[in-house]
Amino acid sequence: MSAPAAGAQRAVTTPAPDGLPWKDGMREECGVFGIRTQGAPAAPLVHLGLYALQHRGQESAGIAAFDGARTHLVKDMGLVANVFTPERLAALPGRIGVGHVRYSTMGTASIENAQPFLEQTPWGVLALAHNGNLINAPDLRRSLEAAGHCFRATSDTEVITKLIATSRAATVEEAVAHCMRRIRGAYTVVAMLGDRLLAFRDANGIRPLVQGAVAGAPVFSSESCAFDQTGGAYVREVGPGELVVCDADGVRQIQVLPVVRRSACVFEHIYFARPDTQLDGRNVHQVRRRMGRILAREQPVPADAVIAVPDSGASAAMGYADESGIPCEVGLIKNRYVGRTFIQPDPSSRDFGVRVKLNPIRDVIAGRRIVLVDDSIVRGTTSRQIVRMLRHTGAREVHVRISSPPILNACYYGIDTSSRGELVASRLSIEEIRASIEADTLGYLSMDGLVQAIGMVPDDLCLACLNGRYPTETPTEAAAGRHALEARQA
Ligand code: SF4
Repeated sequence: MSAPAAGAQRAVTTPAPDGLPWKDGMREECGVFGIRTQGAPAAPLVHLGLYALQHRGQESAGIAAFDGARTHLVKDMGLVANVFTPERLAALPGRIGVGHVRYSTMGTASIENAQPFLEQTPWGVLALAHNGNLINAPDLRRSLEAAGHCFRATSDTEVITKLIATSRAATVEEAVAHCMRRIRGAYTVVAMLGDRLLAFRDANGIRPLVQGAVAGAPVFSSESCAFDQTGGAYVREVGPGELVVCDADGVRQIQVLPVVRRSACVFEHIYFARPDTQLDGRNVHQVRRRMGRILAREQPVPADAVIAVPDSGASAAMGYADESGIPCEVGLIKNRYVGRTFIQPDPSSRDFGVRVKLNPIRDVIAGRRIVLVDDSIVRGTTSRQIVRMLRHTGAREVHVRISSPPILNACYYGIDTSSRGELVASRLSIEEIRASIEADTLGYLSMDGLVQAIGMVPDDLCLACLNGRYPTETPTEAAAGRHALEARQA
């Protein structure tokens, strides 16, 4: 059994945020950030980085810092702004820090599953933050338990920390490499162990991980937008299958796993990443604008105004307007202050979640033919509610245009659509979806159009939820999904 992690820990338990998600789209996964400065305190920079990554997870946030002798940890349920007070940040001294924002895709939204995770190892305390999903976590956990190791949480991340901690390798690098060879699926990880900052990524490079520099110090982040926030600059993408070690000897890149096939998640380009992020050398806003232009060529319709579903449809709506010549207007206003927890006055009100978050501008919509642009349709319920809202506001026609192809298959790599049955496009034809969301017409971007807009070789992208070609083996039904490790614990 592993010994408990040493060092000061401060994990405060508050109820998990719950309530109505306003949109039934794909849900973000997690964000990771890590830095090893040349003397400046790390925690304030990690804190800024997590603010920039907040869109990737709003359930919990945490930072661990190492002061040369002890590892300190603050994590809690809620947004970065709620978790970190000046007092809590001051309790995180040291020039090495890692941070995490979480949306749960394996394990419940609870303080036990909040990250970073700490684990005692032969080399000191490991503090680790992970984005992605392991498809063989239940098997690995079973064998670790059979060997006498105890688990405190129900997240696959703890499997990673245990594999590193229990490795019989002679060095940290070999222990991490041993772990990388055993885990399967999607993972980008930042971690600190003793005086080292570590970053590593799965062999397919499914989830993003970039390296930057802040005042000469190495920094790693899920997205490059966090470098802008911390006054840093983008340096490179951490390669698939690569381990980067930053210590007193400098920065070393070690190619641990052979790259069989690069498979960057296409939905980072379509929806997850912030528009100001550079992904694979491309600005996300510009890519989405190209998606909108191609969508207008492929799915034209006479109309008076193009409006976006805020915020994720905004760039594609601009592109649709560019190409079609139809003016792009702001027709739906998003209330940014509702938060995730609010009390529904009338539980039978089916459209409440959307109405409290979105309000239409009557002068833009009434009496006009509207092209409504969104990034995707998952279950279809939000699309129907928005179409109804536009009709109640007086729209003459509502034409829905989607800047991605239909989502037909589950994702096993850290996105919250692990069940195919939840996906409306796996059950209904496009015409049936149109009727179900009550639109006048419905048009999707083609696969060729999507790949053309991104400008990458299709073989370098994961398109599995669109075409069913998974870049790795797929998990069994029992091993898939958010509660795979809870089912084991029950
Ligand atoms: S299956 Fe879809 S959402 Fe999941 S990693 Fe692949 S492209 Fe991204």
